[in-house]
Amino acid sequence: MQKIHVSNHPLIQHKLTKLRDINTNPKKFRELIKEISALLAYEATSDLLITPVSVTSPMGSAKGFELNEKIGLVPILRAGLGMVEGIWEMMPTAEVWHIGIYRDEKTLKPIEYYNKLPIEPSVGLCLILDPMLATGGSASATVCVLKKWGVKRIKYLGIIGAPEGISCLSNDHPDIDIHLAAVDDRLNDIGYIVPGLGDAGDRQFGTG
Ligand code: URA
Repeated sequence: MQKIHVSNHPLIQHKLTKLRDINTNPKKFRELIKEISALLAYEATSDLLITPVSVTSPMGSAKGFELNEKIGLVPILRAGLGMVEGIWEMMPTAEVWHIGIYRDEKTLKPIEYYNKLPIEPSVGLCLILDPMLATGGSASATVCVLKKWGVKRIKYLGIIGAPEGISCLSNDHPDIDIHLAAVDDRLNDIGYIVPGLGDAGDRQFGTG
């Protein structure tokens, strides 16, 4: 059954408040995106598949576990890029696959412009990374690309979701878990989340 998880972790909520703040500069903004993403990933990966193994400590043999799922991080360009680093530090053997999808400004529909996935999927679980689940169009289109590629398990990690985006993604893909730090009020007429945090790409990269 699909899980729509909105974190109420105090660390995430504290950092999200700083992230929204109009006075937060790009350096701090990137730092916060990195930290929030790592915390969200920690929550989203609580069901990773593990295999029992034994390990030798200086004091003897102990039972332990090792991850047996190959993970792919799939940031949606460009705002998703800032979410990679904090997560990758915790799972350094993950592969990072880039998918470029932008919203046509008139239709708000997703247009794919970059995709270098190999023919066969090389990972079992993909975490799609995009801080803003706005219309849901790019997220839904990315899931379609990954399903077509043959990925068995897919989760979406975002920071702020609009009700419209959550409905779109969960209606199109009821099998995808969605992890967010907050659900905001609505989208405005140019597809921005209100109150949101503005343009997550511009605020990370100092553009706009
Ligand atoms: N993308 C953003 O960066 N911000 C929004 O509010 C919506 C989409």
